[in-house]
Amino acid sequence: MKHLTSDQLRTMYLEFFREKGHAVIPSSSLIPENDPTVLFTTAGMHPLVPFLLGQTHAAGKRLANFQKCIRTGDIDEVGDSTHLTYFEMLGNWSLGDYFKPESIQWSWEFLTSKEWIGLSPDRIAITCFGGDKRHPDLPVDKEAAQIWQNLGVKPDRIAFLEGGVEESKLNWWGPAGQTGPCGPDTEIFYWVPDDIPAPDKFDPDDEGWVEIWNNVFMQYNKNESSQFEQLEQKNVDTGLGFARLVMVLQSVDNVYDTDLFEPIMTVIDQRTNIDDIKAKRIIADHLRTAVFLLAEKVVPSNVDQGYVLRRIIRRTVRFMRLLEVADETKLLNEVIEAVIKKYSPVFPELAENQDFIELELTQEHEKFNIAVSKGIKEFEKYLKDIKDNNPPEKQILSGRLAFKLYDTYGFPIEMTTELAEEVGIKVDREGFDKAFAKHQELSREASAGKFKGGLADNSEITTAYHSLTHILHAALRDVLGNHVEQRGSNITADRLRFDFSHPDKLTDTEKKQIEDWVNHAISNQFAVKQEEMSIEDALATGAIGLFKDKYGGNVTVYTMYNPETDEIYSREICGGPHIETAQDLGKFKIKKEESSSAGIRRIKAVLEK
Ligand code: ATP
Ligand code: MG
Repeated sequence: MKHLTSDQLRTMYLEFFREKGHAVIPSSSLIPENDPTVLFTTAGMHPLVPFLLGQTHAAGKRLANFQKCIRTGDIDEVGDSTHLTYFEMLGNWSLGDYFKPESIQWSWEFLTSKEWIGLSPDRIAITCFGGDKRHPDLPVDKEAAQIWQNLGVKPDRIAFLEGGVEESKLNWWGPAGQTGPCGPDTEIFYWVPDDIPAPDKFDPDDEGWVEIWNNVFMQYNKNESSQFEQLEQKNVDTGLGFARLVMVLQSVDNVYDTDLFEPIMTVIDQRTNIDDIKAKRIIADHLRTAVFLLAEKVVPSNVDQGYVLRRIIRRTVRFMRLLEVADETKLLNEVIEAVIKKYSPVFPELAENQDFIELELTQEHEKFNIAVSKGIKEFEKYLKDIKDNNPPEKQILSGRLAFKLYDTYGFPIEMTTELAEEVGIKVDREGFDKAFAKHQELSREASAGKFKGGLADNSEITTAYHSLTHILHAALRDVLGNHVEQRGSNITADRLRFDFSHPDKLTDTEKKQIEDWVNHAISNQFAVKQEEMSIEDALATGAIGLFKDKYGGNVTVYTMYNPETDEIYSREICGGPHIETAQDLGKFKIKKEESSSAGIRRIKAVLEK
């Protein structure tokens, strides 16, 4: 096995798939560009959904990349050896090109060939789709298993797991309960413990086996009557857990001991007084995630992505208290610095936003301190109330109030319990857990919509709204000035929402000018051209880019222009998809213009027929 740094592995993976005819495409943003149903990009395939559904990708039919991902649904696992809230996924895709044999062979070659990673085949095991009782017409994926066996994997090392096709569980990928593309997957596991030999018989529940790679074969279309038809365009979508493979290649048994975390853990070790390894890992994970989110200009708030960021930062502070950190600000700043230093060579948006990241994190830390001191007053009121109105045996703080303290003031439940017990009051922990679970379910649904996301709505009208955000962006810059930059967007089939940097409320005249600008492009039936080029070329053509997509080879540039005169309306770096031409879109109308946060305005607009 080779001993590689994380940077070497990233490069080697892309090099391998380049040799196999893949175009390397950039990582997209952590915030899904065209999918309001999920808060974060949760897998490498997420930004590629439109192309997996049949749109042509300008870079071709074989794609590979590394993709920034966030999974808040995994937050309770964080602190174990392999689950992070932020991680990179390495991926390769076939859009109607190669299928199972090549996909499996290449995964095997990359992992086991001495020329590449050189893992010992004896430490590898495989799961395959084992059918679903409710769908006897769907075959067990013997085809995949046979390919593995032909490569030398022993039958005992291949487990067939019965899937829950309706719930997209166990070796099955597909839109839950919906119609559309779906299919079986095969997962690759590695035996991590160095001191125990890998068991001959593979038991996926044995924790020594860690899933490192998942190859999905989009093979079927689920039709209206819940039958599975073979798809015309069969796709492959794979996701390799970058941090997990780095862990394997550096011969350690958890991701925090890899070079991905080494400088971060060093700071945390130095600045904490209590040695609680899980708490330290949570601080490391959460602060890294916070830095990546802030680098994409997400700010702490009470809604959407901002709320997740707020929770993550406050949870960090809570664990810093647990570890009796003497100087919290110092720890925060040193970790931020370590993360930025470590990751900026690959993700330049971190260094570019260093001041912003430091400022926002420090401010949120202060706000939390204020909230806690405010919460204490409220808390004391509850306690007095309980004392005054109940006999001693009935002096209990309800789960609802304990949750309110947690949710509104950021009170950790452990802290609430401790403080209440000091004055002889018990806390209804069960009630709290229930309220908490319900809340978590909601946020889980929001983020773990997982792959369902992009599939939910890929309609023509949603795509048209996405194209209009580009035109709107150009109009705003023309009317208000070049300081205007996109800060977020959210699109449904009914409207578009667009956030941008601008200090003042728009005047009626400005709004009218902007509407006219956009409607002018619509009435000239603007056309859309998609091109792949290097970042330098893209910038040279005057393309504007969001904060993302600035690294890793080529970028896709969408140009919107007047097909009669070639006048260019907009040129932007973007992941797509877009309409080809504007026809019968109707009239663009700004419905609302308001402040979104300091220095950021928000427009809601619709198309009226
Ligand atoms: P697990 O069962 O271990 O949570 P998963 O089935 O959720 O994994 P996939 O959705 O198949 O994982 O994602 C593809 C790959 O991404 C996995 O094989 C794994 O290596 C990696 N991965 C998934 N979740 C995480 C995470 N929270 N942190 C780090 N890597 C992850
Ligand atoms: Mg998982």
